[in-house]
Amino acid sequence: MLFKNCLINGVKADIAVKNGVITDGEYDGGVKDCGGLAAFYGLFDMHCHLRDPGFTEKETVESGLLSAAKGGFTAVMPMPNTDPVCDNPETVKYILDKAEKCGVKVYPIAAATAGQKGETVTDLAALTASGAVAFSDDGRPVVNDAVALKVMSEACRLGSFYISHCETPSLNKDGVVTPASEEAMIERECLLAFSTASRVHIAHVSTAGGAEIIRRYKSLGARVTAETCPHYFCFTAADAGENTNFKMNPPLRGESDRLAIIGALQDGTIDVISTDHAPHTDAEKAKPYKDAPNGIIGFETAFAAAYTALVSSGAVTLSKLTEILAAPYKITGKKGGKIAAGMPADLVFIDLDEKFVYGREEIRSKSHNSPFIGKTLTGRVKFTVSDGKTVY
Ligand SMILES: [Zn+2]
Repeated sequence: MLFKNCLINGVKADIAVKNGVITDGEYDGGVKDCGGLAAFYGLFDMHCHLRDPGFTEKETVESGLLSAAKGGFTAVMPMPNTDPVCDNPETVKYILDKAEKCGVKVYPIAAATAGQKGETVTDLAALTASGAVAFSDDGRPVVNDAVALKVMSEACRLGSFYISHCETPSLNKDGVVTPASEEAMIERECLLAFSTASRVHIAHVSTAGGAEIIRRYKSLGARVTAETCPHYFCFTAADAGENTNFKMNPPLRGESDRLAIIGALQDGTIDVISTDHAPHTDAEKAKPYKDAPNGIIGFETAFAAAYTALVSSGAVTLSKLTEILAAPYKITGKKGGKIAAGMPADLVFIDLDEKFVYGREEIRSKSHNSPFIGKTLTGRVKFTVSDGKTVY
């Protein structure tokens, strides 16, 4: 296929694809006029929940990947809090088998500890051999210092890495992760990584203090990477009210935190924007605010939310956003992230001028728990290509 007349970082270009790979000009199949759409390398989500196996009333591998493709994602990393927990090679294989037919690459994250109980480190070598690309007990912190250190250093030895959901249960208030709860654990993870020269990736940073801790350790040379999610730079606690579609963990913070998260993206303290796509059924989210589960869906709004809040607002340049979107490829070592000859033809074509109101009826996820419903966003994904094939 030859994708004619697209814009790469604002510059007019054609993209030639042969056998699912980007080439210098040779192509197979037909010619598609992209009409001036912006082309980006396929988006890569380092943090999502596909809910399969075990919670398929919320999402399945198939429905989750349809939703991901609609959002422009060609690669996703699902968290292991399924049932059974993804702490064994069989469950990794189950997810990979289901994903194979879906046209979006899936790189499973396996549990760091058996049953995500924080006690016994899983067989990281066997899990890596079966296809797990990273380790995390997301949703639960690994409280025990020695266990966390063991996961971090063993994962690192295997060429893999540990992703930390940062909370300190004793510092939570009424079950809610306070800034101190989040920041105390970020500090510990950074310190352990620094003192042992291990890698750690900090999940969903939500506070100014958390970003500042990461900034300090990065300046010391610690092997720390970090992510935030669109909701932490689009909304604050004041937007939530009693609407359970704004309830997630960590929770929305204050305006100074929101601005600090944008600052941390600007200066590279936070490397990645992930979605933390976390589907829940309408019935679960219809519960009173205090009883409703944490989590919101995010695949289908991630790009537009980031483009609207960061680029349209003037906070971040288009080329900086492009760099942020490519960061997961660097962190995981997966081939891609750049529209260049030899790279897999994973591409997303976006109308950066299109303003739209995100509607419940267009959602492809099995769940509808999005705080962006009814919000006006700029930057509409038009089609997504994975290994040269159109998947949305
Ligand atoms: Zn988490």
